[in-house]
Amino acid sequence: MRLGIHLSIGQGLKRTMEEALDLDCNCVQIFSKNPRGWNAGKFDQGGADFVRENRKERGIDPWVVHATYLVNPCSPDEDLYSRSLSSLELEVGRAEAMGADFFVIHPGNTKGSSSQEAINRLQKSLDFLLGKFHAISFLVEGMAGRGSELGGDFLELSKIVSPFAPEKVGICLDTCHLFAAGFDIRTEEGWRSTLDKFFAHIDHQRLGLIHVNDSVYPLGAKKDRHTHLGKGEIGVEGFRAMVNRPELRNIPLILETPGEARKEGQNNLEFLRNL
Ligand SMILES: [Zn+2]
Ligand SMILES: [Zn+2]
Repeated sequence: MRLGIHLSIGQGLKRTMEEALDLDCNCVQIFSKNPRGWNAGKFDQGGADFVRENRKERGIDPWVVHATYLVNPCSPDEDLYSRSLSSLELEVGRAEAMGADFFVIHPGNTKGSSSQEAINRLQKSLDFLLGKFHAISFLVEGMAGRGSELGGDFLELSKIVSPFAPEKVGICLDTCHLFAAGFDIRTEEGWRSTLDKFFAHIDHQRLGLIHVNDSVYPLGAKKDRHTHLGKGEIGVEGFRAMVNRPELRNIPLILETPGEARKEGQNNLEFLRNL
């Protein structure tokens, strides 16, 4: 099982990697900068070199970088759109500098434009990034589908990724987002029908990663609030069913549960390993 956790880079990237190894993770996810601001801060080039040169032989694979929260790569507002592209360019540049395998991006918010217009703009953003960066692959994340959030259903996700090569642009699913979007993944049967629908729209090869989070809110609430595994509305049986799905056997699982406190992370990793 490829199992990892979203970790902080606050103490430097070298420390992040050591922490992942301490937690027995074989994959990891980070933000390349403060996720809630535009300011890039200083880049830890030494740490990035260290990660790039050492993490594969130390068994951390994949290394995943998640986009920050303010970017909206499908925004109809020209100003926000170009700001988003500049930030993404910097973030993906950092991800490549540390030799990351995947860059995860939220599809964004249509802000009232049509789904098709938003998809076109998002694809333009991906084209721009793919033109600049050749080593990394992009994963577009499935969302809860709240309000005018793009990417809350499989048809939309499939339209977004279909023009791109599967090894360049794939999909990241999130258990909390699926549940919030109305997919009942509390049971084996629920997982089977959810994955049947997903793979009816999207090629197997494109599923690159799953974020594993329990959900604070009930099924179909369209609210994205993560909680610790087994402590939310999805519950123990839902995660047991997930880890036993043959289609998901080789898909890396990354925990993003709140509070990056070591103890909680450890408990959640332990929970999944025991299923
Ligand atoms: Zn995400
Ligand atoms: Zn979420």
